[in-house]
Amino acid sequence: MSLLSLADVYRARQRLAGRVALTPLVASPALSARADVPVFLKLETVQPTGSFKLRGATNALAQLAETGVKRVVTASTGNHGRALAYAAHALGMEAAVCMSSLVPRNKVDAVAALGARVVISGKSQDEAQVEAQRLMREEGYAFVPPFDDLRVIAGQATIGLEIFEALPDTATIVVPLSGGGLFSGVAFAAKQIRPDVSAIGVSMARGAAMHASLAAGHPVDVEESETLADSLGGGIGLDNRHTFAFTRALADEVVLLSEPSIARGIAHAYREERLVVEGAGAVGIAALLDGLLEQRKGPIVIVVSGANIDTTVHRRLVAER
Ligand SMILES: *Cc1c(COP(=O)(O)O)cnc(C)c1O
Repeated sequence: MSLLSLADVYRARQRLAGRVALTPLVASPALSARADVPVFLKLETVQPTGSFKLRGATNALAQLAETGVKRVVTASTGNHGRALAYAAHALGMEAAVCMSSLVPRNKVDAVAALGARVVISGKSQDEAQVEAQRLMREEGYAFVPPFDDLRVIAGQATIGLEIFEALPDTATIVVPLSGGGLFSGVAFAAKQIRPDVSAIGVSMARGAAMHASLAAGHPVDVEESETLADSLGGGIGLDNRHTFAFTRALADEVVLLSEPSIARGIAHAYREERLVVEGAGAVGIAALLDGLLEQRKGPIVIVVSGANIDTTVHRRLVAER
């Protein structure tokens, strides 16, 4: 963790200026009434690629561009690939994106539409990763990981700066958690600014690799399965360098959610907040609705991390309840 400083986060913000949105922090009367403390939503859904991942990708690519790198590659469950494609285009670079065959069609199409080279390989995030590493070795691409990278973490951490500028007395931050790049960055910036803030990570119960790793005391693999929170799928890497240590040091608690809870979060976002939110983006809202944040001090800020849900799935979930 000492490898990152708040100054790095401010430098990341300068690189992001004009390239990513300064996202709104909006009060949620419905959730505030439910929680009995003020609740705010940090809307990364409005980023041009529909998720916060544009921040980390842009910070990493801007630094690579400064050193003359022209081609970048990643493996991604979708949102990082989309962000990389968009950032590469904006910076005049070429992007290749490796994905597993489990990645939903809407995400694959979105990456291709942004002009990236899409490579489908294997049935898991790990197998797609192997292909990306091959492109790096054999075709001279620079590899940009989705989470376990200090440049990516510093980019995601700019969310923490924005939260405290908008709401200096934030007492609790609630952050979707998969590989931990988002959680590490936001919790790092938040606790640098206000050490007594509570940072809560939220994952789906099905295949929560970071949660299992924290329990084991070291990075472990879990079996991947389908979940409404598809952007939270995938392992943290058995050779994890940064996000496991950051998350272990910074997480006050990690809570897990059932699939029906995630569905409820998506439906609440649409009906009460008028927001289209993907499963991974809705887990913070779902945790609050499940009563898992009842002991937490307000104001509570929930990071709503992404909007990229298949429209057919969304329509079904919203109609069901
Ligand atoms: C990637 C992603 C996450 C999880 O981010 P990590 O850095 O892997 O923990 C959460 N929500 C959305 C929408 C994402 O795309």
